[in-house]
Amino acid sequence: MPHDKPKFMYDCFLCQRPFQFGPHVYAGRPVRQWDIIACEICISSNWDGLVPQQHPRLIEHLKAKGIEIRLNDEGWLPIPPRGS
Ligand SMILES: [Zn+2]
Repeated sequence: MPHDKPKFMYDCFLCQRPFQFGPHVYAGRPVRQWDIIACEICISSNWDGLVPQQHPRLIEHLKAKGIEIRLNDEGWLPIPPRGS
């Protein structure tokens, strides 16, 4: 499949843009609690939480998987930290 993306390119679940995940460059990480992979831009720009209304796809995904949606005091959805 010559037009296929390289294996180490992944689409961020949140912004749906491709980012490199290895070798050597890891521009994002899996968010295991949510069963998604997200790019560093989304993670760092939403360090204080995602606005649920701006991420209906994520909310649907979490609901479909039966993953608890825990909003913080601002009503935002904090991204589970690495290794938690
Ligand atoms: Zn992203």
